[in-house]
Parts: sequence; structure tokens; C-alpha cells
Amino acid sequence: MSANNLYPKAINETVLSYAPDSAERQALTAELAVQQARVQEIPAVVGGERIASGNTTDVCAPHAHAQRLGRIHNADQATIDAAIGAAVSAQRDWSQASLADRSAVFLKAADLLAGPWRAKLNAATMLGQGKTAYQAEIDAACELIDFLRFNVQFAHELAAGQPISSPGLRNHLEYRPLEGFVYAVTPFNFTAIGGNLAIAPALMGNTVLWKPAATASLSNYLFMELLEAAGLPKGVINFVPGDPVAVSNAVLARPELAGIHFTGSTAVFDTLWGEVGRNVLRYRGYPRLVGETGGKDFVLAHPSADADTLAVALLRGAFEYQGQKCSAASRAYVPASLWPKVRERLVAMVETIRMGDVTDFTNFMGAVIDRRAFDRIAGHLQRAAQDSAVKVVTGGRADDSVGYFIDPTVLEVDNPRHTLMETELFGPVLSVYVYADRQWPEVLALVDGTSPYALTGAVFATDRAAIAQASDALRFAAGNFYINDKPTGAVVGQQPFGGARRSGTNDKAGSPLNLLRWVSPRTVKETFVPPADYRYPHMAA
Ligand code: NAD
Repeated sequence: MSANNLYPKAINETVLSYAPDSAERQALTAELAVQQARVQEIPAVVGGERIASGNTTDVCAPHAHAQRLGRIHNADQATIDAAIGAAVSAQRDWSQASLADRSAVFLKAADLLAGPWRAKLNAATMLGQGKTAYQAEIDAACELIDFLRFNVQFAHELAAGQPISSPGLRNHLEYRPLEGFVYAVTPFNFTAIGGNLAIAPALMGNTVLWKPAATASLSNYLFMELLEAAGLPKGVINFVPGDPVAVSNAVLARPELAGIHFTGSTAVFDTLWGEVGRNVLRYRGYPRLVGETGGKDFVLAHPSADADTLAVALLRGAFEYQGQKCSAASRAYVPASLWPKVRERLVAMVETIRMGDVTDFTNFMGAVIDRRAFDRIAGHLQRAAQDSAVKVVTGGRADDSVGYFIDPTVLEVDNPRHTLMETELFGPVLSVYVYADRQWPEVLALVDGTSPYALTGAVFATDRAAIAQASDALRFAAGNFYINDKPTGAVVGQQPFGGARRSGTNDKAGSPLNLLRWVSPRTVKETFVPPADYRYPHMAA
């Protein structure tokens, strides 16, 4: 327990193995069968009521697009307005509930997810978002459980931060929530991020309108149900699937908008920010804008790097979850002396990768999320195949006959400023630039100056001086910087996550820094015996 016994001390949830014959494998297999056999209705949840508009969009399995898993009921205008109303009216009671009471809801949710709900959320994440069992487990189970538990711990630690009091008076900092409601707009690629963008402001006493990504709605809706099962009061989080532009236009026009908690592409965050700017005179206060956005994450190898560990990091960093992690390695810089060995190891390993149906546990990769992503990535591969400045080292094929499958692909580019080195592709494509060993200092500047993003990055070297040089030269090139490790896989409480430049506001999900954005503290000074005479001693005659 913590020092004051108000909450259990948070410990990272253990990742289960899903080895054949394990209990977790059995439970997950049974749940996959249940979810594959039904079409889940996904209505809006507004003030605790389900609202099914009848205007529906299908949720399909990326690895088998003919397989229908759910039906989203897109919220109509009246539902969106009702959700805003529900969030506004729930605010008073929820903001006055004690932190201990609010925490109990989320701690219970963590225990439910660690236990009976684990297989449900994992199965929905596998089927709906195309993750393997392991990728689902580290996201929908472990990371989300960690967010639930660590946020509680961080919130209590923040509340303990108080100003000094002097003799005769008492000072107190009251960690109030924002006045109004928070709009959570969430991405497809992590169930845990979807959940956290809604629960982090709610834990701090805010009420929330949560607009999930259509392609993550299945798992996100089940998480909403889990929160209800944990006792979240009606109206605290309102789940509103639907047309993102229609929902956002309605929400951003409201004077009660107190904040936006966003994760997704840079372009969409830019749109939201611009709209808030245009509406600024309408709002009761200045909305807090928190956005984690795109990336073009790098791996930089020094001539002293170990080729074997570098090749494994490139493979895992670039191809796990089909390269659809915001932190995925997508540009690599390898010295000419090392490249032949790294290329050989990498190609040999990539050729053993099994890709296919994620319910087949022997697969390492599944399909990319949807038709739009498939077309975008396949288009890049087609152009690369015809580009004389690009060599296809391995992969390069795309096949959408059954699911949206893209080969794990390694491309070697001649020009370090090639669009493949600058643009976020968000798929299983790694672009490599091979540099002359003596150009290490120039390459440091190149990595720093290429692409507008600054999310994650890694350096591989055994030479300590080279690590120090890279760490210094790339100080602003990544919000999460890795030394001799792949740039993916941040763990809550261990590597607070987020980047700057065009990668977002760097408000570090999974740390107290994020929670601070959802409070607007009130300073209270109480004087015990106030003066009864206005005159100061120096005024005596
Ligand atoms: P996206 O921007 O397409 O969608 C994100 C959310 O915005 C979804 O809920 C979507 O419905 C909504 N949206 C889309 N268009 C909108 C509009 N015009 N107005 C308002 N809302 C709109 O992103 P995605 O495809 O779900 O996720 C991939 C992106 O997210 C990548 O760029 C990736 O790098 C980024 N990402 C970043 C982080 C991070 O921590 N930095 C984490 C995960 C994902």
C-alpha cells in the first residue's frame, strides 16, 4: 500500500504468455469464438443510456474484410447535443466526489480488466484492430491496466504537493478539475490510448465526451461497458461514435469546451487547434489542448553498433503491429561498414515472418487497419518499385484479396531527403539510408533535420562517446530516446510517452505531467486572526 493507504502501490501488470495449453490461451480462444460468431451492436452511451441511431457503419476484421464483427450506430445531431448536455450536467457531482472515491472506480476497472474482462478486450483488439495475441495483451490488457492504476497513484502524489503555511495562516492548493467538459478524440491503433484519453481527465474530476476511431470502436465500446461495470456514474464519460467532423463541429462550438485530449494524425490535430483558435472568444475559459500526433521515428546506428541486436531491433521496431505504432521505426541510418551484415540478418529474419489471420497464434503479423491505409501504403510501394533511387531489399507486395496485407518491406534509398525518409507511412515499411562511416557527425545533423516530427528515436552503438554525441545532437529530435533498444514499447510509469515538434504537445501520457493538464488549481489562504487595525507600526508618531 502507499504511505497513506489510500491506494495500492502501482506495479506494472505482468504480460501473459499465451503459450499453447496456458489458461489464458484457452480463455482467449473461447472469447475469440464468441466474438467471431456475433455482430456486436455499438450504440452511443449518453448519460448512461444507449442510443442506437440506425445509421450504421460496419466494423470488419482487417485480416478478413468479409468478416463483420460489429455495427456502429453513428450519433446524430440530437445525440451529440445530448452527450454534451450529459457531460455538462454530470460535472458538478463528479467534480465534488473525493479523489479517493473517483479512484476506487478506476482501481476496480483495473481489477476487472486484469481478471474477467481481459479476454474480452484482448479478443476485440485482435479481431477489430488486427493485433496478434501478444500485441493485444501489451495494449488492451497490460498498458490499459497500468494507466488505470498508475494514474491513481500519480493523482494522489500530485494532491500531496502543497504550498508552505506560515504561523497564523494556512495555505492550500485545491486540485480542481477544469470548468466544463473535455473532448477525447482517440486513435485506432491502441485500445489503451483510447481508454486513457477518456479516463485521465475523468480521474481528475472532469466529465468527458469520448469520440472513438471507427476502426477501434469494438474494443473501445467494451471498455466503456467495463467502466460502467466498475461503477462509473452516468454522464461522466459519454461514448459518442460517429462522423468525426460532425461531432467535432458541434463540440468545438460549445462555450463549455474545457479541453481536448487527442491522439491521432498531425493533420487532424491541426484542424482541431485551428477551429479552437477561431472559436476562442466563445469559450468560458481557454481550452487545454493536448495532442499526441504523428512520427517518423529513427534508428541511427554507429559503426561500433552490434549488427545482430540492431537487426532484431529494426525488425521488431518496424514490423510489429504492421508498423502501425506511432513509435514504429520507419527510417534507419546504417554505416556502410555494417550494412552488408545487418541487411543479411534482417532479410533472413524477415523472410521467416508469418503474416495472416491473427487468431492463428503462430503468426507474427496481421493486416493493416483498413482499405484507406492499404491503398495509401500500397501506393507508396508502387512508386518505390518504379523509383530508380530506391532499392527494394525485401518485401514490397500488397494483397487485399482476403485482408489488407502488406509485406514487411525494407527499402534502401540513395537520397536521405527522399520522401520515404520524411513522410509518415504508418505501415510495415522501413526506409534505410546507408552512410559513409566517416560522415557520422554529418549524419547526426541529418537525422535531426529530416522530417518535421520528433516522437521516438534510437541510437545503436557500443562506443560510449558516440552514444553521448548522439544523445546531445538529437536532444530535440525525439521525446522518447532509446539507447541500444528499439524505439517502440514504452511502458506506463517507466517511459512516459510523447514527442514535440510536429509530433504533439509532449504532455507525456503515463506520467503526472499529463494529469496536470486536467486540473486548474485553486489557491486557498486562510488567516486565523486577521488584523483589526489598518495602520502599520512605522506609522506611529
Ligand atoms: P486519425 O488522425 O485519422 O484519427 C484520430 C481520431 O481523429 C479518430 O477518432 C478520428 O475519427 C478523428 N478524426 C479524423 N478526422 C477528423 C476530423 N476532420 N476532425 C475531427 N476528428 C477527426 O489517426 P489514426 O489513423 O486513428 O491514428 C494514426 C495516427 O495517430 C498516426 O499519425 C500516429 O502517428 C498517431 N498516433 C500518435 C501517437 C502518439 O502518442 N504520438 C499514438 C498513437 C497514434
